[in-house]
Amino acid sequence: MERTIVGKHYKDKSTIGIGLLNGYIKSISKYPRKEELEMVGPGFVDLQINGFNGVDFNQGGLSPGQVVKLTKDLWSEGVTTYYPTLITNDTVKIHAAIKCIIKACENPLVADSIGGIHLEGPFLSKKDGPRGAHPLNFVQAPNWNLFCEWQNTAKGRIKLITISPEWPDSGKFIDKCVSSGVKVAIGHTAASEEQIAEAVQAGAIMSTHLGNATHLTLPRHSNYIWDQLANENLWCSLIADGFHLPVSILKVFLKVKNTKSVLVSDSTKFAGLPPGIYNSHIGGDIELTKNGRLQIINRPEMLAGSAKTLRWCIEHLVNNEITSLEYALEMASLKPIEVMEISNGFETNKKADLIVFEYVKGNLKILKTIKSGEVVYEYP
Ligand SMILES: [Zn+2]
Repeated sequence: MERTIVGKHYKDKSTIGIGLLNGYIKSISKYPRKEELEMVGPGFVDLQINGFNGVDFNQGGLSPGQVVKLTKDLWSEGVTTYYPTLITNDTVKIHAAIKCIIKACENPLVADSIGGIHLEGPFLSKKDGPRGAHPLNFVQAPNWNLFCEWQNTAKGRIKLITISPEWPDSGKFIDKCVSSGVKVAIGHTAASEEQIAEAVQAGAIMSTHLGNATHLTLPRHSNYIWDQLANENLWCSLIADGFHLPVSILKVFLKVKNTKSVLVSDSTKFAGLPPGIYNSHIGGDIELTKNGRLQIINRPEMLAGSAKTLRWCIEHLVNNEITSLEYALEMASLKPIEVMEISNGFETNKKADLIVFEYVKGNLKILKTIKSGEVVYEYP
């Protein structure tokens, strides 16, 4: 049965009617102008989610039911597609987490919401700083056979891998990933200019959370941040939660990577939880402050991950006048769709993944989330 959602286009604010049929956008047409309507736009796509609202993909003991719960909780944040992110870990634990995610995909709406698994590690830099919080003992050189074992368990659902190209023969590994349909991002890296160039030549397309997981001090001229910024073929993902990157860096990165930037939340299971003291399997004793900063208790200058979702990152960009609302929304939806080359979008014949929202006094309020044509969340 065809249904129509009427609202204001997120971009030009014109009144539109979106016809939905069988889970797809059948038509987008102009409607007589109405002022009081809510806005409508594409659902959010988050390429990097480690956990949310108490559920953690990486700490062990994950159940398919938890993955289903997390997916539903993300709908309430306007996220209609996400990439569960598995970080550097014991290979058995990576297999176990993958199995769980695949099992959860027996629920068709969950399967539809998971764009693919993002494997962030274990083929990263061993160096302190670039390695970030990834456990050193499991960090290793790119290993195609090992990757294929995980991909086999994942039934081909690993769609994105973050590696550091500082390992020998990284180019060959990247080439094999790309040939098998897996997107490759550069991250947690101390790679040289040549190694970054080689990685891009081999098919790497993005810098994962550019500007984070780096040395505290870098040579002013020759360093991997400049090299990635300068490479015109590389997209970048940014954690714009207000804590991972200062406003000035976000402004500069977005000037350089204007059309090739995506927002990621990189959220941990603490996102969505109330402020308080918690224990994290990677950070130890941590505090989630009232303003949403997740920090290590004994070293509050150190972040223990992100506790924000894309919705908050959009607010941060807009409220600090870093980007327009329209652009921030696209960085959280159409841009990740473009970089991952998935068949979603805000146009006819695309999956009907939509949000109905309002932006009032610096707050992005999700009023309704529509996934594959179904209303999966409504503001209470
Ligand atoms: Zn990371």
